[in-house]
Amino acid sequence: MTAYDGTLTDTDLTRLRRCVQLATEALASGDEPFGSVLVDADGNTLFEDHNRVQGGDATQHPEFAIARWAAEHLTPEQRRTAVTYTSGEHCAMCSAAHAWVGLGKIVYATSTEQLTDWLNEWGVAPGPVAPLPIRAVAPGVEVAGPAPELADEVRALHARLHGV
Ligand code: ZN
Repeated sequence: MTAYDGTLTDTDLTRLRRCVQLATEALASGDEPFGSVLVDADGNTLFEDHNRVQGGDATQHPEFAIARWAAEHLTPEQRRTAVTYTSGEHCAMCSAAHAWVGLGKIVYATSTEQLTDWLNEWGVAPGPVAPLPIRAVAPGVEVAGPAPELADEVRALHARLHGV
């Protein structure tokens, strides 16, 4: 079990619910159920996206899109003070991209450990990338999550993806 961080605010949960909504939209449009939102230091949403892998490019994760967008549009200070919200904890690729562009805190609804447990439970073969937590890839990034309030909803999206 991943320990509940305990630092999530009502505002965090509102942002995470938007991420889950984006994940739901992704699944409905044929992509995998992951959604993410980038918020600036004043609480304004700067950029949001969902998974877009159905075209065959498995690197089209929303967290990676956020890192690229931030590198192109934000100053180093703006990146450092921005908060990334995401329905599922960053994968190793996205954690690395996040750290390389100098983005700030990450808040996630469900952890990689939770997703890994669900996939194991359903007999889904593991992906090609080790399921590392953000902290193992980007130890300097502040992280909060998971949000137990959203676990069932996110689990249900992944169950639908895998036909469970
Ligand atoms: Zn990723």
